[in-house]
Amino acid sequence: MEWRTSRRLNKLPPYLFFEIDKAKRAALKQGRDIIDFGIGDPDQPTPAYIIEALHRASEDPANHRYALDQGMRRLRSAIEGWYKKRFNVDIDADSEVLPLIGSKEGIAHFPLAFINPGDYALIPDPCYPPYKGGTIFAGGIPYLLALRQADNFLIDLKKIPSAVLKKSKALYVNYPNNPTSATCGTGFYEHIIAFARKHRLIVISDLAYSEIYFDGEKPHSLLEIEGAKEVCIEFHSLSKTFNMTGWRIGWACGNRGLVQALSKVKSNIDSGVFSAIQYAGIAALEGAEKHPQAMRTLYQERRDTFVTGLRSLGWNITGPSATFYVWAKLPGRKSSIGFASELLKRADIIATPGIGFGKSGEGFIRFALTVDTKRIEEAVERLKTIW
Ligand SMILES: *Cc1c(COP(=O)(O)O)cnc(C)c1O
Repeated sequence: MEWRTSRRLNKLPPYLFFEIDKAKRAALKQGRDIIDFGIGDPDQPTPAYIIEALHRASEDPANHRYALDQGMRRLRSAIEGWYKKRFNVDIDADSEVLPLIGSKEGIAHFPLAFINPGDYALIPDPCYPPYKGGTIFAGGIPYLLALRQADNFLIDLKKIPSAVLKKSKALYVNYPNNPTSATCGTGFYEHIIAFARKHRLIVISDLAYSEIYFDGEKPHSLLEIEGAKEVCIEFHSLSKTFNMTGWRIGWACGNRGLVQALSKVKSNIDSGVFSAIQYAGIAALEGAEKHPQAMRTLYQERRDTFVTGLRSLGWNITGPSATFYVWAKLPGRKSSIGFASELLKRADIIATPGIGFGKSGEGFIRFALTVDTKRIEEAVERLKTIW
């Protein structure tokens, strides 16, 4: 039998990297020495104190049973405490915090709670793909907001037509940004909140990279802005901060109604985060002094090595002040997919073509600095030979 897939599934954007993936697999099979800047997945291990907490908790049979949908009270309190300390924002552990099985899951499910078929969602372009995917699954229509280098990749709210605004229910905001690595200040956040309140928009803030910043410039939470809790839900992840991408743990927090509705969606879909992983999450957050600074120092060294190297090749690059991505404008008018194929073919280097994050990503390529410094130096040497 050939089953026809649903209209909603068919509406998802096509997967663009088929050819590159094929070439990558072929190269690996031939035993070529590939340097992989492709996926944004930390190469370093999870800190030992977190693994120990998992180990201890995994031996307690009480943790082998279904977890509560709402997550453990102790985890929610640890999140409340971390928020207060990091952002000086008060969130209520009982009603304004929801643990997630990784923040991607929550981001993708959230539109099911608020988007009706035909509603618009305002989504930056380029962006992290689940913003579009989640909207489409809910029957919503992504309206893409081009992020331009000339605007420092900040959303230009003035460009949204008022007819679109009338039909829009939500606005996605992601700073520090994947893939552009752009950051924003509280002034920008104030505009976002004022705009959202005026036009009755839910603001979905993705703060996955809040702890990956350099030069001492700490990113802010949107919830720091007065009135933000009226309109905002913020998504956080332990994945990037503590090298825990495979563990699947994150959270949503903010407006009570938004958080509780997401909880209702999820209670119909999953049964919570493995309790032992929740204990590990508590350990991670309560010991948050121990690890992130070392991680930042490491990424900063990689960033400096790579950016200095690319500049010596004549690339006009600004180093990111947050995230572990270098978002590089391509020389000339090359297509990003063509450029990535060429990198792989001629230098055994993998990077992600900008167009994979949306139409406005064309003309750029993303390098994830999840490769150690020696290999970054090697990559620069290889680039020298082909430039
Ligand atoms: C990595 C990432 C996430 C978080 O993913 P998890 O599901 O928590 O592992 C969320 N948003 C962006 C933009 C990311 O790059």
